[in-house]
Amino acid sequence: MPGLDDLYKEIILDHYRNPRNQGELDSPPAHRTEGFNPLCGDEVTVTFEISDNSLSEVRIAGHGCSISQASASMMSAAVKGKAIDEVREVTRQFKAMMSIHEEKIGSEVSEQTSEEVFELGDLEALKGVVKFPVRIKCATLSWNALLTGLSELEG
Ligand code: ZN
Repeated sequence: MPGLDDLYKEIILDHYRNPRNQGELDSPPAHRTEGFNPLCGDEVTVTFEISDNSLSEVRIAGHGCSISQASASMMSAAVKGKAIDEVREVTRQFKAMMSIHEEKIGSEVSEQTSEEVFELGDLEALKGVVKFPVRIKCATLSWNALLTGLSELEG
């Protein structure tokens, strides 16, 4: 991952090597959703349970590049136990962070992120990925899978 800060690299590699909430829940009762990124060959399976309008359990599985798998691990840690509204908000913020247009990198990044309500924590480590547009799909794969899963449940 040339071009990423060493600290960020370390955080990403830590999640890649020691993924949080790894595995699959039995579905049913858990809801199961999958994401595939043909550009890179990344696959991610997200299984989750909802109770009392919260994402009470979430597990991630799959294989692919370090960014896709680390992002899935970070996502699981970030959304587990949160109310569904909060899950959607964190997802929105993460995707906003990942969609900062190339030209804005540098001077305006801090403005974009200053209105964050949630502490993105380790997720900030993925911010550097926006410098590599082809890898953004790797980083957002698991998030889009989770969003799809939530929509399926509501639909
Ligand atoms: Zn990838």
